[in-house]
Amino acid sequence: MNHNVSSSSNVSLMLPSILELSRQSLTDSILEMGEKKFRSDQLWRSLYHDVSETFEEMSTLSKPFRNSLREKYSISTLKEVMLLTSSDRTTSKSLYRLGDGELIETVMMRYESDGHRRNRKTACISTQAGCALGCTFCATGQQGFRRNLTVGEIVGQVIDMQRVAIAEDRAQIDGGRRSKGEVQGVTNVVFMGMGEPLANYKNTISAIRVLNDGQGLNIGARHITVSTVGLIPEILKLADEDLQINLAISLHAPDNVTRSQTMPVNKRYPVQELINACHKYADKTKRRIFFEYVLLKDQNDSIEQAQKLGRLLNGLHCHVNLIPVNPTAGGPFERTDLISAKSFQGGLKQYGIPSTIRMEKGIDINAGCGQLRERAIDIFNN
Ligand code: SAH
Ligand code: SF4
Repeated sequence: MNHNVSSSSNVSLMLPSILELSRQSLTDSILEMGEKKFRSDQLWRSLYHDVSETFEEMSTLSKPFRNSLREKYSISTLKEVMLLTSSDRTTSKSLYRLGDGELIETVMMRYESDGHRRNRKTACISTQAGCALGCTFCATGQQGFRRNLTVGEIVGQVIDMQRVAIAEDRAQIDGGRRSKGEVQGVTNVVFMGMGEPLANYKNTISAIRVLNDGQGLNIGARHITVSTVGLIPEILKLADEDLQINLAISLHAPDNVTRSQTMPVNKRYPVQELINACHKYADKTKRRIFFEYVLLKDQNDSIEQAQKLGRLLNGLHCHVNLIPVNPTAGGPFERTDLISAKSFQGGLKQYGIPSTIRMEKGIDINAGCGQLRERAIDIFNN
């Protein structure tokens, strides 16, 4: 297990991050600096395609221009303060300190090609420091809300993962374990780290558009998944954005009584209203919806509850991901075992609802949402 800890940087010296600018604002700023418009495209490419760490290394730009950029802007404001890698090396988790000292987590999961699907590297990113929604099984939820992340802080996580992923691809090519020219980098992004993406709606959407940009990171919309606790107005708004992304709904229970026991948000947006919104979303976007269902032993994992869920989702174009819970420190829940998870899956199947059991990656490094921050706060405070 790798384990690096370093101290915080001086916030007052920090220049604004260039990653906060939209493509249009970047062009405006470049014109204001007396440069030609095409320089803005070159700069964009250096930032998001080449993922340059410093202005100095952007060799397509003139030296004086690079110097002016350096005086005006910083690039990333994220500082990696801890890195853990799982014993099978497929999963790594970074803890970042933001400019103002807040801590967030980003996870990278590596999947080998299995004959059906090609090699994948998925970045799991955060949209908020903390979360206000207080789900009882979630480490982030138990830590409370700190603040929304900016666009640059959201995209910055993917840029950092992209640097790691590209370096790994190149090492594999050099070692003859990957064909020449096959530098893939990050192939998928899931908004399943800390926080509720749709509670930070504007920055989440802007970040998706940057990730999606063909001259930058070029992550296809179909390779981006946004996971939400189920904020109905924002789900309906998202349906109108004309984005071909995947939507995952954290349902975790088939009825109001069970759901309200672990998810306070259910009092505001009850199950049936949420499912009605999902129907509207699916009708409008013609996209299948994913439901996340964390299996909590003796809480939501009985066969009757599976059948109830089957009836609830009947007629909706969807797929259910069953995830045995990653127990959190001091939390009351235990994981459902694989046999019970399979029975639950059988209950769904009776109603024709497809599902997959996802044994979570990175259990040995507390890869579950918010768990590293929880531990780091312990470490840093001792
Ligand atoms: N706030 C959003 C996205 C972040 S959480 C949401 O709730 O959907 C991403 C996923 O991790 C959610 O489905 C969430 O319910 C799940 N999750 C949270 N804590 C977990 C735990 N301890 N074990 C397994 N999954 C967990
Ligand atoms: Fe927030 Fe999602 Fe955790 Fe619930 S599961 S507390 S919505 S991050």
